[in-house]
Amino acid sequence: MGPPGSGKGTQAAVVARHLGIPAISTGDIFREHVAAGTPLGREAETYMERGHYVPDSVTNEMVRSRLTEADAVRGFILDGYPRTVPQVEFLDEVLTAQDVELDRVLLLTVDVEEVVGRLKRRAGAQGRHDDDEEIIRHRLRLFAEQTAPLAAEYERRGLLVRVDGMGAIDEVAARMLAAATDDGAEAAEPASGATGAASGVQSSVDGTAGRA
Ligand code: ADP
Repeated sequence: MGPPGSGKGTQAAVVARHLGIPAISTGDIFREHVAAGTPLGREAETYMERGHYVPDSVTNEMVRSRLTEADAVRGFILDGYPRTVPQVEFLDEVLTAQDVELDRVLLLTVDVEEVVGRLKRRAGAQGRHDDDEEIIRHRLRLFAEQTAPLAAEYERRGLLVRVDGMGAIDEVAARMLAAATDDGAEAAEPASGATGAASGVQSSVDGTAGRA
């Protein structure tokens, strides 16, 4: 979890690569559908371009179906989902049905002005229509109102780990890996990182499956 521009997508990809599991980004899936012009993409686009959330009914079914794909069987990272209370409840049901438990929830913390600056640069670099300033501010408000409260729920469950999202990508990545793996300190060490992460992965992935 983290506000728009906090680096969720970048960091989810780093952690997923280290753990050998897929990073499932609802934003990316929606953008793929938009690019391919599917009916789902045409519907999602009307919300995304205004910086609104896509309705839970649409998003939830998309995630349910993605989680049943073969590569997600040994573990997964969700990036940008859940974002609303009903999405949390839906995810609980889907995971219970699959006998899977969430290992943890990582919350990337950043300061708002830094995030607005990052998103404006991304608008220039990637041409994302939802990255112009007025829409950025709307998405940040939406995050504060609808998504930030989910952190409290996951904290109550003892799953939440806050990760400082300020600094260079590789510094944040080291913190993310430390927070994501049981063997965090080792995984964050560049020299022994590969081995540390790999064993951390194994136990973490097995942890998920083991509780299955
Ligand atoms: P960001 O986190 O920077 O807003 P994303 O790529 O994660 O970027 O999401 C882009 C857009 O996709 C969101 O503004 C929203 O319209 C839609 N979206 C992504 N995930 C969800 C979700 N879980 N629920 C509803 N809408 C979503």
